[in-house]
Amino acid sequence: MSIRIGILGYGNLGRGVECAVKQNPDMELAAVFTRRDPADVHIMTETAKVYHVDEAVKMKDEIDVLILCGGSATDLPKQTPEFAQYFNVVDSFDTHAKIPEHFADVDAAAKKSGKIGLISVGWDPGMFSLNRLYSNAILPEGTDYTFWGKGVSQGHSDAVRRIDGVVDARQYTIPVEKALSAVRNGENPVLTTGEKHTREVFVVAEDGADKEKIEKEIKTMPNYFDEYETTVHFISEEQMKAEHAGLPHGGFVIRTGKTGWEQEHSHVIEYSLKLDSNPEFTSSVIAAYARAAYRLNREGQSGCRTVFDIAPAYLTVKSPEELRKHML
Ligand code: NAP
Repeated sequence: MSIRIGILGYGNLGRGVECAVKQNPDMELAAVFTRRDPADVHIMTETAKVYHVDEAVKMKDEIDVLILCGGSATDLPKQTPEFAQYFNVVDSFDTHAKIPEHFADVDAAAKKSGKIGLISVGWDPGMFSLNRLYSNAILPEGTDYTFWGKGVSQGHSDAVRRIDGVVDARQYTIPVEKALSAVRNGENPVLTTGEKHTREVFVVAEDGADKEKIEKEIKTMPNYFDEYETTVHFISEEQMKAEHAGLPHGGFVIRTGKTGWEQEHSHVIEYSLKLDSNPEFTSSVIAAYARAAYRLNREGQSGCRTVFDIAPAYLTVKSPEELRKHML
């Protein structure tokens, strides 16, 4: 029998999960839930339907894993603990500083219901976190580096959109090539985030807006831009649509370390991602972890988990025998 997947929230990630389910032969889409009028939400799967979120709990026996695709800022802190009372759930909560709090809330709900709540699944947090952990365990004497980009940062784009006179904006985070090579060469540089990344902003301004003022406001925005070398380009609405509609992203997790009695040997571990679509890739990671959530719960486990707690064999549709024969 297939793993019956429910999607709660149909934005970029919701659409991505729908595509990922299609690529996994042991999964089927059971339902999509939305807070909007279901008549306004059009999905691609012909065999599934869109329901209002208020209908979800009634369908708890028809869904094996509910994937929460709301935003991290305000949706997931509420939705994940709420729905862990009824479903195995997976989310991609990415407010790093608040993960311990979120874990505690989901753990309490999932232990009570006997379900699994798998949180902060994606690439960062997610695959990047796993790679940081593996390389730290393997090279205890070393230095960690994470570089992001080149890619669109939604948070920074939103921050620019809130400036007076700005109609639309897209912000790219770009790793500094010189810093990357110094790390790869094992030079162990001490780098601030500003030395590791530059920021490039594309802005559509209102007619007659004071562009100089907008540019200054962007470049001096505390936390977001003031510590970075930032370039601002003003473009037309048409250019924005034609050249900046995608959501690419990626980055590098690198650890350099030494081994040997006198620390005479150097090693570099590097994991890199180049993503055409951040939400589609994130959703693909989530689908694999939804399989793990389903299997863990079938074994009788409950409570909150993160990617750190899931053994790799739980992620794949391949059998342990196949894995040992072909992948080990
Ligand atoms: P999004 O497109 O803004 O969707 C968020 C929610 O907004 C949807 O679930 C949907 O809920 C609602 N929505 C979407 N389109 C709408 C529309 N046209 N009108 C009204 N409401 C709409 O956000 P996203 O790109 O899917 O990202 C979701 C979260 O994923 C982000 O907040 C981020 O934290 C996380 N994320 C994590 C990682 C990672 O590596 N861990 C990577 C990428 C993203 P309803 O259907 O209920 O209205």
